[in-house]
Amino acid sequence: MANSLVCALIIADLMLFAIDICANNFLLYFTHSTIWHFKQNLQVINASKNGYYKDIYRTCINTSMKQLTAFKYRIYPTSEQEILIGKTFGCKRWVSNHFLAEQQDRFKNKLKHLSWVDMNNLLTPLKKEVDFLKEVDSIALQNAAIDLADAYGNFFDSISGKRKGPKVNPPKFKSKHGRQSYRTRNVKVLENALFIPKLKEVKAVIHRPIPEDAVITSTTISRNPDGRYYASILTEIEIPIHDFKNREVGCDLGIKDILITSDGLKFKNPNELEHIARTKRLLKLKQKQFARTKKGSKNHEKLRVQVARLYSKITRQRNDYYHNISRYLVDNNDAIHLENLGVSNMLKNRKLSRAIHEAAWSTLSGMIDYKAKWAGVTYTKINRFFPSSKTCSCCGHKLESLDLATREWTCPSCGEIHDRDWNAAINILHEGQRQCYGVQSSSHATGDVGVIPEALLKLATKIERSAVIPQLVMGVGKPDDLQSSGS
Ligand SMILES: [Zn+2]
Repeated sequence: MANSLVCALIIADLMLFAIDICANNFLLYFTHSTIWHFKQNLQVINASKNGYYKDIYRTCINTSMKQLTAFKYRIYPTSEQEILIGKTFGCKRWVSNHFLAEQQDRFKNKLKHLSWVDMNNLLTPLKKEVDFLKEVDSIALQNAAIDLADAYGNFFDSISGKRKGPKVNPPKFKSKHGRQSYRTRNVKVLENALFIPKLKEVKAVIHRPIPEDAVITSTTISRNPDGRYYASILTEIEIPIHDFKNREVGCDLGIKDILITSDGLKFKNPNELEHIARTKRLLKLKQKQFARTKKGSKNHEKLRVQVARLYSKITRQRNDYYHNISRYLVDNNDAIHLENLGVSNMLKNRKLSRAIHEAAWSTLSGMIDYKAKWAGVTYTKINRFFPSSKTCSCCGHKLESLDLATREWTCPSCGEIHDRDWNAAINILHEGQRQCYGVQSSSHATGDVGVIPEALLKLATKIERSAVIPQLVMGVGKPDDLQSSGS
């Protein structure tokens, strides 16, 4: 009896033990499989987030994504349409200023702040009182109220700390000077024209068509100080993610050359480009003439428009150049690593010349940022305090200090001769890869510059370092020849 009891106990114990082992194994199996699946998922998530080019996971990545894209067209309104556009600007400004005054009054009298719905409801009775509001596009007026509500929202969020970044000022009264604009809906793109509510057909140059599957959300009609009219159509588009190139690039931002890639390609500062310098010389001349004219004279007004036109021409020429650079970088790489420019730091800097350079850098990096997002290209920002200039990209030796004027230096540890900016770009590439993938990827700075668009061919220069990198034919990269040279 006792024996059988002991037996039973032993059996029970054994069974429990067996279950335990099974359970443990199961648990072990379960944990492993979860971790395995988790890892798989993690990589897939990483892949879709970074556009990382591991071929195994390519099938899991979305092939397209939705993006807001603006199409800006120059429009040529007739004189009648110009008058109506002018009236719409005026009415929009009037509505905006009317509600701003109302809000300020309410604040003084401790009354409830109006939301955009409240303002919108007040618009209809207001139109009965004020005749001229009936003439213009009603959506433009509604949007004026929405914009005012948004401006207040940003201001309140900034005070309460909900909104990060520099402090936002309360909305101001709108002035009739400077750039004027209004926003509307239901704009249609026709052949060489736009259909705009109230204005009907307005002549336009459709230099790039809006894709057929794009959904138009809103349109902004604007007039620049130089008298040109534009329509900017905001659309939602499915954008295909680009093919993997198996190339990555690190970029250093500079002053003499605005951008230097880890492949040794240098892009000149836009101010040093011949065609921009020419416009600048002309601007200087016109400014001198303008200063000599009398205020109120015909010549004064004529020159004012000419000066404004030249200003906007320079901006357009610069932006065209930045668009070309960012397009080149995004089209040729799977990942772009760039120095991070601290925005708040930018504001603290008191030197004007420096501020101008930083404005240029942030315009350019902004373009790289959004183009990369559209194409599903990884874009990383490297900490500004990362010592990219004074670290040797070959052996990792770090110099104590490096003078700003030193353009070329020799590594005391490995003897490599470095071009200052190129070396910094290579270091940024390596640091970016460490940040993204934890390790340096196999794609080193090969010196293969990829395909440079024609517009940039004359504006970019390749750093030549005969001993290390053989001479390149621009636009025709030969990665296989270069890899053997061991850069
Ligand atoms: Zn070295």
